[in-house]
Amino acid sequence: MKQIAIFLMLIANMTMVQAALNVQKITDNVYALEGETTQRSPSNFGNNSTHGVIITKEGVILIDSGASYLGAKELHETIQTITDQPIKIIINTGGQDHRWLGNDYFQQLGARIIASSKTKQDQKIRADYHLNRLGGLIKESLEGTEPFFATETFDEKMNLTLGDVNLELYHFGAAHTVGDIVVWMPSAKTMFTGDVVFNDRMLGIGPAKNVQSWIDAFEKMAEFKPEHIVPGHGKASDLATATKNTQQYLQFLIDKISKILDNDGDMLQASKIDQSNFHFLTGHKDIAGKNAQWVFEQMEFDY
Ligand SMILES: [Zn+2]
Repeated sequence: MKQIAIFLMLIANMTMVQAALNVQKITDNVYALEGETTQRSPSNFGNNSTHGVIITKEGVILIDSGASYLGAKELHETIQTITDQPIKIIINTGGQDHRWLGNDYFQQLGARIIASSKTKQDQKIRADYHLNRLGGLIKESLEGTEPFFATETFDEKMNLTLGDVNLELYHFGAAHTVGDIVVWMPSAKTMFTGDVVFNDRMLGIGPAKNVQSWIDAFEKMAEFKPEHIVPGHGKASDLATATKNTQQYLQFLIDKISKILDNDGDMLQASKIDQSNFHFLTGHKDIAGKNAQWVFEQMEFDY
């Protein structure tokens, strides 16, 4: 009996194998931690997202704290494989769960938590929604998660220094969420974009649902001519790749929907747009049709 019980326990543990974060070195002391590009699940703790890590002489800056308490712990444990330095600053680049629901874990370690004022508002408004949704998706891996809002905010621009590293934080307007920011590290020519850039996986137009504002934010970010992009999802890349995966897809949707509206077309036609040029992005089967409908809805309203 005892052997059967041990065997069953082993099987249970096997099914709970943790989805490790992929560590990508960008330059000296700058890393991207890349989670799965699939849906949030118990084994990825909701971290189906990419996070930036900057190691300074006075500690670590982590960009986006993960989707849950255990997700934050996973990020921390992964950072500890790179450095012994403590986590000093968390930046939340947006209002989506994986950008901030790990804040509580890191504030307990004494970290400062920074976001745009619009993101802090968004955190407050959608905290319960995120917890409910995550409960269904990551189940027991949500254990211990308490919403903890940013403690320092700014409206449009903030300069931030830790040790030998200077950062510039910019809110250029709504993109994926209403308060999205980008983080520019001039010395490494690296841009941490949060959900302003989706690589490898097809973006979702919501929750901000303002596609032109998203393109504008992307283009303002691109003016810095970053050599490295640490995106909100997928692998770190150059600007050309980010443009192809995000900006060109958004522009494609606007162009196609404009044509449909010019010809008095309807939402059914929008949902049937041929998006096969973007089928290299994972998840397109689930979201491509919805994206077209959302853009149609928004553009029809403005038309
Ligand atoms: Zn996201």
